[in-house]
Amino acid sequence: MESSKPHAALLSSPGLGHLIPMLELGKRLVTHHGFDVTVFTISASTSPAESQLLQSIASPQLLNMVELPPVDMSNLVDADAKLVTRIAAIMREIIPRFRTAISGMKVRPTVLILDFFGFEALHILEFDMPKYIYFPGTAWFLSLSVYAPILDMEVEGEYVDRTEPLSLPGCKPVRPEDVVDPMLDRTNQEYLQYVRMGAGLSKCDGILLNMWEDLEPTTLRALRDEEAMAPFVKVPIYPIGPLTRCPGGVAPRELLDWLDLQPTESVIYVSFGSGGTITIEQLTELAWGLELSQHRFIWVVRPPIQNNLYGSYFTLGNGGDDPIRYLPVGFLGRTKTIGIVIPNWAPQVDILRHPSVGGFLSHCGWSSTLESIVNAVPMIAWPLFAEQRLNATIVTEDLGIAVRPEVLPTKRVVRREEIEKMVRRVMVDKEMRNRVKELKKSGESALSKGASSYNSLSLIAKD
Ligand code: UDP
Repeated sequence: MESSKPHAALLSSPGLGHLIPMLELGKRLVTHHGFDVTVFTISASTSPAESQLLQSIASPQLLNMVELPPVDMSNLVDADAKLVTRIAAIMREIIPRFRTAISGMKVRPTVLILDFFGFEALHILEFDMPKYIYFPGTAWFLSLSVYAPILDMEVEGEYVDRTEPLSLPGCKPVRPEDVVDPMLDRTNQEYLQYVRMGAGLSKCDGILLNMWEDLEPTTLRALRDEEAMAPFVKVPIYPIGPLTRCPGGVAPRELLDWLDLQPTESVIYVSFGSGGTITIEQLTELAWGLELSQHRFIWVVRPPIQNNLYGSYFTLGNGGDDPIRYLPVGFLGRTKTIGIVIPNWAPQVDILRHPSVGGFLSHCGWSSTLESIVNAVPMIAWPLFAEQRLNATIVTEDLGIAVRPEVLPTKRVVRREEIEKMVRRVMVDKEMRNRVKELKKSGESALSKGASSYNSLSLIAKD
């Protein structure tokens, strides 16, 4: 018998940073809105660590998971191709396989939800069903993306060479140093791909955002205003967040026991997301900064990589596991009573929700930022790549829940004294802590039954 439930097919682009929010959306559709959900994943990594993680996050009891045949990247793009070019190439390559997989399904989906790199699949027009884009980022980033084709026509020269910010109708202007990575070099293939994506996003039936109405009210108003951004975004906007991972119950007992022994809000957690890496010089300064601050810490470390800020994006867990090779001599011994160093990957949500954690030095990936907010943890904003500089600006300037280094960490090395100062500040600043606690409440209430984010997803379910 055919199921009478709506059936959503979700397609995530490769990389855990993209897959994790898609899985959370899938779980939410199942648990709160009566959907059946099939999640199509693409593996671009041969890393056993990634497969293992995927299994631990996926919730097979809730979601039907289908892994599409892997794409061999070596023939698709040049070896030096940038992140967006790589992901876009994989997504183009995967479309015929996705189409075949959907056609072969016994119970055909009734709605497609693609992440923003999946916009190319909007062309699969033979599937007569609504198609939504899931944009797991801020409304400000969405505004910049849909306006990029206009900026491309109107602005001459490199964006980063400008002295004036870029105007977005009705939104906060974007400073040249905050533009997203693909806009850093207009001659690069990645830029062309980004502009194409900006134009392509509005070919769907609606855009889901992983944030909530009260987080960026001005930008959301602009996106819906015919005099501002609405002519460029063209489709309805649905803020449906904050959707974040639930604790996985995968945290090692010793880690939780150690956290249990620390005073409330006394530990700073340091992590650069699923793929972020820093140079050896920066890593050394960070180690010293943490040590000098004398605050307790948990630090997820990866082997340093010169000139590649997303060095582990596709190769998580392949970097070797012995931090003693690259941490300053004696660091582990000197800090063993106040800190824990975890190689490569940590159970982030379990750590952030622990009451002993009181600060998060983060690269400001959007999932990490939301996880910090929903656990009421103030941040040190340390953006590295993608749209992280925009996110860092939002959390420091608009929301007042973070401090950030005086100069961009991508432009120069942040020295140990500044790191020490930021750690001390984030751990003691009462106002910042109170603000993030308020924000946590506001996010929780947006998700509750009958409130804005809940209603947005209900609307899609009704459609
Ligand atoms: N994450 C984790 N452990 C780690 C690093 C990352 O669980 O050691 C998770 C984190 O909780 C978040 C995701 O990976 O859900 C990272 O996504 P984000 O958008 O913050 O950054 P990206 O990885 O896309 O740069």
